[in-house]
Amino acid sequence: MASKTLDGIKSIENFQIEDKRLFLRLDLNVPMNEDLTIADDTRIRAAMPTIKYAIEKGAKIIIASHFGRPKGVEEKYSLEPVAKYLSEKLNKEIMLVEEPRGHAARALLSGLKPSQIIMLENLRFDPGEEKNDREFAQSMAGQTDIYINDAFGASHRAHASIVAMPGLVDKKGIGFLMRKEIEMLDTIRFTPQAPFLTILGGAKVSDKIEVIEVLMDKVDTMIIGGAMAYTFLAAQKIQTGKSLVEKDKISFAADLLKRAEMRRKRILVPIDHRITQDIKDTEGSKICDGAAIPDGWLGVDIGPKTAELYAKEIARAKTIFWNGPMGVFETEAFSAGTFKVARAIAENEKAISVVGGGDSAAAAEASGQAEKFTHISTGGGASLEFLQGEKLPGIEALRPPKRSEKNIEDGGML
Ligand code: AMP
Repeated sequence: MASKTLDGIKSIENFQIEDKRLFLRLDLNVPMNEDLTIADDTRIRAAMPTIKYAIEKGAKIIIASHFGRPKGVEEKYSLEPVAKYLSEKLNKEIMLVEEPRGHAARALLSGLKPSQIIMLENLRFDPGEEKNDREFAQSMAGQTDIYINDAFGASHRAHASIVAMPGLVDKKGIGFLMRKEIEMLDTIRFTPQAPFLTILGGAKVSDKIEVIEVLMDKVDTMIIGGAMAYTFLAAQKIQTGKSLVEKDKISFAADLLKRAEMRRKRILVPIDHRITQDIKDTEGSKICDGAAIPDGWLGVDIGPKTAELYAKEIARAKTIFWNGPMGVFETEAFSAGTFKVARAIAENEKAISVVGGGDSAAAAEASGQAEKFTHISTGGGASLEFLQGEKLPGIEALRPPKRSEKNIEDGGML
């Protein structure tokens, strides 16, 4: 599959990696349980093809990732459980290096043998990572022959291991996961087959305005669910009770509905709901048979008629992009709409179906149908920014310098 975005960017297969120090920037930022066991290993599984390839080819492998949002060194954000898990999956020893800048790290790296793996401790333990600090990047680049970014979910961040570091290494490129992510999202952006259906849900319209604007030009139909839907209902002057409505986005929603009508595109909003008087009250929830929500009640999921309507649309689509749950799906009593949508997408085997990370990826996994989707992105924020047409700093950092820039770097000599 060709990808516009990847024009000129090298991939791991373009390098001779045997016996070379290969720095693999991965996104191993996985959800954890309270007892520090891994709650969802999707990102680890997604990184496997690149790791296994590096082992087979006999590279000296340095794995690096961020994990959570620590403030300095915090034990609960250690990558230790991830290193252990990966080591078990690969049946291979993985040493965790505590201070990538330290002497011990350098000594370990210089003793690394082909197909051996070390993992650097959480990159965000070092204040240099989030500051895109050149010195921190240099401490890692100095130990690296080939830099591979396979961390799509972190590539929208201008951090040291994502941007500064590839600027300091000549041989750089992407891994297999990054290729798949970008090829799939490029298909959505540039060559979607009609009918193209986008399903948007989640908490806020305001988080998704840019992506709605961009997708609006390309889609045939847009389905709206989740709390976002109530702002669209309010824009049609339909009663929303005490559901989450973003008052300052009502005019945007109204304008979008008008624009869609003029351009013969369809925007579907819920025609019934599951409602409750308190988001914590699952027992007292009920179906509201109609679009209007009574005073004192709030919508927490799309209703069964809406789910049926959306499933029919999904069945006839050829390209599907989904981002955002249809309701408060983390609560079982409010999850039916989201799971019905997930199942309907999985059942449409003719369509290219892409799930844009975050909560919808978790919902797709929880529906038990994950393997039937064409692609579930590992990057929530990154996939939305990418679809909005923004250049991801982590991808741009892998482009070869333009001829004129290269001449300057080479002292002007050709
Ligand atoms: P987002 O990160 O924007 O995709 O939003 C995901 C969050 O939206 C999830 O945590 C859902 O529980 C929440 N959500 C979805 N529908 C509703 C709703 N009707 N009311 C409140 N929160 C909702």
